[in-house]
Amino acid sequence: MAEVSRLPGPVADLWQWQLDGSCRRESPDVFFHPDGERGPSRRNRDRQAKAVCAGCPVMQSCREHALRVREPYGVWGAMTSNEREAAYAGPPGFVAASRAAS
Ligand code: SF4
Repeated sequence: MAEVSRLPGPVADLWQWQLDGSCRRESPDVFFHPDGERGPSRRNRDRQAKAVCAGCPVMQSCREHALRVREPYGVWGAMTSNEREAAYAGPPGFVAASRAAS
């Protein structure tokens, strides 16, 4: 679960971007791995999810949200959970740079 203290408040404008996400037309199974998934299966699923994100009109907002609230699971804003963990562990400013990268 994301750190709830970092979640934006209950203001519709702060969540509006989610209504425009390209993933709304996809199965959640593309974005969230099943228990125990490893290796090529996981890489292929992550690649499929990132391809959807690449054409998403709200990718930047999604990525910023995921990094800000430290979403622990799934592909958000074309970043896997492992890539987000690497951003958190990186040097100061790396998360901000990851937010800006697209
Ligand atoms: S960037 Fe990816 S995960 Fe985020 S809303 Fe768009 S399609 Fe969904």
